[in-house]
Amino acid sequence: MSRRRLDSRSGLPAGLLGEIQTPISTEPMENVYEITGELGRGKFAVVKRCVEKISGKVFAAKFLRKRRRGRDCRAEVIHEMAVLEMARNNARVVNLHAAYETDHDIVLVLEYAAGGEIFDHCVSEELLPEAQIIRLIRQTLEGVHHLHQSNLVHLDLKPQNILLTSLSPPGDIKIVDFGLARKLGAVGELREILGTPEYVAPEILNYEPITTATDLWSVGVIAYMLVTGESPFAGDDKQETYLNVSQVNVDYSREAFSRVSELAVDFIRKLLIKAPEDRPSAAECMSHPWLWQQQQICLSPDPTATRPFRERSCGTKWAAPPEDPEDKENFLESPHSHAKRFRFDEETSAPGDGDF
Ligand code: ADP
Ligand code: MG
Repeated sequence: MSRRRLDSRSGLPAGLLGEIQTPISTEPMENVYEITGELGRGKFAVVKRCVEKISGKVFAAKFLRKRRRGRDCRAEVIHEMAVLEMARNNARVVNLHAAYETDHDIVLVLEYAAGGEIFDHCVSEELLPEAQIIRLIRQTLEGVHHLHQSNLVHLDLKPQNILLTSLSPPGDIKIVDFGLARKLGAVGELREILGTPEYVAPEILNYEPITTATDLWSVGVIAYMLVTGESPFAGDDKQETYLNVSQVNVDYSREAFSRVSELAVDFIRKLLIKAPEDRPSAAECMSHPWLWQQQQICLSPDPTATRPFRERSCGTKWAAPPEDPEDKENFLESPHSHAKRFRFDEETSAPGDGDF
């Protein structure tokens, strides 16, 4: 049973957009593009590399299934398109080029991000130098700030959804995957249970109101992962992960943060705070001194200021069991089932304090 609130005007679930400008062509896309391989896949989508025959330009085609679990999900796909359209002037968001429809899928032809996911840099033996991480986090914040200015929240920010325009040297970031994004404000409060356990904010687990601050938590998780190579809340199973998030159980030990500047730790501490209202906004984050340390770090003669190799082994946090397909699905529509499955009796206050 769903308790999702409906917008009285559109009849859509709260926060979903229904109007698009991009025409959806029913012409076979193979007439226009040559499909040359797979770039990634989720539970309901496959993303393929394709080349526009006439121009030779490379794009990423996201094939989204219209029916999921016997339910017509065309509205969700249209919403994803509408969000991409709203973010069209946001340079940090992947551009929507065209759309096609087949019997089973709607295909979004997207700007191609050739450098892959920043996730690869989190799990690589060779972590990025801190100056590069600062640049990528600053760009991510720019993109998020821009979205928030339009009252859009992404709600699925994670290293798999932040791509790079080129791999080596790392290019600029492009935010992808707006399947869970929502428009705030139209019909009052938005509460939903969605996202990916390791990356979601406590308010999502507690079925509390979603705000722009929810995305800032995820930026904190991404920054943590880039600097340490570890996922801060990943437990051995889903239950443990939820508990870690709910209790803001984060390892800030010297061991985890070897060769990472104090300012990086300070930045992350200020985002991984349980109360959403105590987290800084994207704009406030951009003025944090860590993000203005780049030159100092680049020019530092201290070889420990950049980290050519990860200090810690991939260790326990990455050795978590293979992804549960349910996690990929992202929606747990009934807050009652949520309450039963993820009940937390103990709550601790978040570490960190103060404003920037
Ligand atoms: P899902 O909703 O299934 O998670 P995403 O939009 O996140 O779908 O795409 C899945 C994966 O496909 C991404 O994590 C990324 O690896 C790859 N991908 C998506 N969009 C692009 C793109 N524009 N360019 C290159 N790779 C992409
Ligand atoms: Mg994704």
